[in-house]
Amino acid sequence: MKFISTRGAADPVTFREAVAIGLAPDGGLYLPQFLPDLSQRLRAWEQLSYADLCAEFLGLFAPDIPEEVLTKLCHRSYGRFTHPEIAPLKRLDERTFVLELFHGPTLAFKDLALQLLGNLYGWECEQRGSSINVLGATSGDTGAAAIHGLLGKPRTAIFILYPDGRVSPLQERQMTCTGAANVYALAIDGSFDDAQRIVKEAFGDHEFATQHRLSAVNSINLARILAQCVYYLYTWLRLPEAARESVEFVVPTGNFGNVFAGWLLARMGVPIIGIKVATNQNDLLHRFFTTGEYRIGTVHPSAAPSMDIQLASNFERLLYYVHDENPTRVRAAMAELRANGSYRVPALERDLFSSTTATDADIAQTIARVSAQHGYTLDPHTACAFQKLDPARTSVVLATAHPAKFPEVVGAATGTVPVHPVLEALKSKPIVKHCLPADVAAVKRFVAEHAVRT
Ligand SMILES: *Cc1c(COP(=O)(O)O)cnc(C)c1O
Repeated sequence: MKFISTRGAADPVTFREAVAIGLAPDGGLYLPQFLPDLSQRLRAWEQLSYADLCAEFLGLFAPDIPEEVLTKLCHRSYGRFTHPEIAPLKRLDERTFVLELFHGPTLAFKDLALQLLGNLYGWECEQRGSSINVLGATSGDTGAAAIHGLLGKPRTAIFILYPDGRVSPLQERQMTCTGAANVYALAIDGSFDDAQRIVKEAFGDHEFATQHRLSAVNSINLARILAQCVYYLYTWLRLPEAARESVEFVVPTGNFGNVFAGWLLARMGVPIIGIKVATNQNDLLHRFFTTGEYRIGTVHPSAAPSMDIQLASNFERLLYYVHDENPTRVRAAMAELRANGSYRVPALERDLFSSTTATDADIAQTIARVSAQHGYTLDPHTACAFQKLDPARTSVVLATAHPAKFPEVVGAATGTVPVHPVLEALKSKPIVKHCLPADVAAVKRFVAEHAVRT
């Protein structure tokens, strides 16, 4: 099994190489050369624990990592979760389930991928006897989860750019109060898209990226997508037989990484009948799935900040399949998008997809309603997904963050401020951050000065 770039102008690489490189050298994103058919394996996988299922699944893509190593890394990655099932499924009513993805160290779903990625990096450094410097941009949760995936790991440093003042105070504390010497939280004077652009530009300078052994940890890393496939698979295997036939996953969406993983798994032969893309007021993807036009607008900060995105980086992976796995057409699409700020898919096939959008008022109302109806507290991101659930289907709503990460919005909606002991403990620790302008040269200078060398 090799991995190819969506833009077709980079050599195929192994799993280990794809993970270490992150973004392909031609600017594209890595995808498996072919997708395995899982339909015949599902029965045999029903009884596996989360970590064992993860090792089995990844084993199909990573023949270059010994089986026992993969098993060890998966167990280590999910060993830090506070719930024995890692991703427990809660039933709210006959047709509605919530998949809780917030039992990891930073209380958001990104831990499920980034704990694993951190361990893969650590193992890779050990094998090569060399260092990795991770560079990424975050609108909140990715940075915290990435940092906690690499915290204190030898031969690694992590540089995370985030828009200063535009992540929640608790998210900022999760990034800046770690006390770890290999963690650099870079507060950028700009938006999340500025931060993301700077990271892309830094990686675009191949000499710089090679010299400092840079690796990407944002949602473009292939290992994250594959790790995220696992909770869809694990959940599908745990659903009552009748629910399996009508299951729609409903996914709070920003960069399209989470939802793409579910779609990819369906393409591997797991019978999922629907995937709903739930956006906040930054509804670029909702507009795309209703009109076929992908038009980049400006970001409007919302009550669900980790979804405040106007350029969904993983969308390119979907385009690759939309264009029949033809990289020439992906390149043309991306060039058009860059030139015009918009792109229209010639004949949009919605396939499994549907979509919704939610304003901040919808978010508040939904949190209040679900709390009153079910006694269940949603965080603002998860609330975006509770719009127009299809009564004819079994909905599995992905709960992407613990409500205690957003005490103001949730407290105002329900009258009770949610708390979590992990977050309470952060409040007494000092904040360490580095403020930089939204300028690629300044960021490159900082990285050059602090990168780990071997
Ligand atoms: C990152 C994040 C999202 C969006 O996920 P994508 O993979 O970027 O689509 C949604 N909710 C929360 C809480 C997040 O942290």
